[in-house]
Amino acid sequence: MKKLLIVGNWKSHKSVEEAHTFMIAFLNSTFVNWLHSQEENKDKSKRVVICPPTILVAELARLLEHVDSKIPIDLGVQDISPFSIGPHTGEVAASEVRGLVKYVILGHSERRREFDETDDLISKKVEEANKNGLIPIVCVQSKETSVPDGTHIIAYEPVEAIGSGLPDDPVDADTVAAFFKEEKSISYVLYGGSVTPENVQRYTSCQNIDGVLVGGASLDPKIFAEIIQLA
Ligand code: PEP
Repeated sequence: MKKLLIVGNWKSHKSVEEAHTFMIAFLNSTFVNWLHSQEENKDKSKRVVICPPTILVAELARLLEHVDSKIPIDLGVQDISPFSIGPHTGEVAASEVRGLVKYVILGHSERRREFDETDDLISKKVEEANKNGLIPIVCVQSKETSVPDGTHIIAYEPVEAIGSGLPDDPVDADTVAAFFKEEKSISYVLYGGSVTPENVQRYTSCQNIDGVLVGGASLDPKIFAEIIQLA
């Protein structure tokens, strides 16, 4: 059975109020009805992860506590500190979000570009995530991107495909996914870059792709629900 992971990356978007409105609309969307009707469909399972700005995770975790546990929605953050708790102004340590979120996106190309994140720094963050029981989803931009030890899930996100409306060719994405599985022993590969309801199945039907990382299209509850439904 293929177990798909569908991850929404909100980046630096949404106030507390907007996040609340999103979640209510999302949970009331066709997705929930569909999910219940899928309980008997065992050939493909789907888990959903929403990664809001860190400031919103406590509020969303509280909201999700009241949701039927059969609905597989988890939360993630988009970054963590390379340090444990302590005198590190402005940082959020993995142990501070543990219990609220299950996943952490690391090494996104925007962080590499805008905050000069290096492979070494990303390795330290992966180590912190694993030490604290968070599952790192490491973004790689090409076959040449180094994958830190302790990484089991990667998201292949070619830079040109991000936010451009120019998604990668699924055959190319599948080839890169196969490379990481065969050569780097990665067990789970997501594709990210301009995923929409119209193109999601072209990726999730690829043999080596186990899900998608969705940026812009995850901000709208109906569109994100559609992506999940069509994945
Ligand atoms: C991303 O930035 O991780 C991403 C996949 O963005 P988008 O879906 O907007 O291309």
